[in-house]
Amino acid sequence: MLTTAHQLQHCPECGAALPAATEMAQRCAECGFSYAADSVVFRPARPWRIYLLFAAALAILPGLLSFLETTLARLERPTPLQTLFAAAAIILLVWCGRRLRVLLEPNRYVAITPSGVAARTPRITARLGWHEMREITLRGSIPLIYRHANEPPVLLEWVFDPGEVDLFRAELQNVSRRWAQQVIPWRDAQFRSDLD
Ligand SMILES: [Zn+2]
Repeated sequence: MLTTAHQLQHCPECGAALPAATEMAQRCAECGFSYAADSVVFRPARPWRIYLLFAAALAILPGLLSFLETTLARLERPTPLQTLFAAAAIILLVWCGRRLRVLLEPNRYVAITPSGVAARTPRITARLGWHEMREITLRGSIPLIYRHANEPPVLLEWVFDPGEVDLFRAELQNVSRRWAQQVIPWRDAQFRSDLD
């Protein structure tokens, strides 16, 4: 969900009240988050969705786990139904484990600001200056920012709503042209494995 600078009343990073945006770059008095009239902030439109999914998972997990237990107790001949439920329990446990981080970071955002991209995802909090960013690719449908310095690339995950990445790309180019007189190369190269 995109918020324009005019709609932005609180700092996405620290929550402090922000004076109205102008054409000039300003900073949050509390944390230094920079913004101006052409800044935009992306946030998940339905951040609470993960809580609902977790609640649903936790509601059915005990039943699945008891199936798993019975299946493991009688390893010699599980019925197909038991095998199915055991597999579902394992998949659900893995799903919950991988999303725990998302659950613990409700204030996720990606902002395009006069000084670059600021972001908080379940994994990272980062401020990337315009000249620190070398290129952007997509991992699946998630933007991945490569940096010039010998630092790991930044994956902007768990923030954008479906179909919003094109908007991010267009806004990024507009704003970087204005504030840094450059456009960060966006390569649609597919899978890059040097993230982790
Ligand atoms: Zn702030």
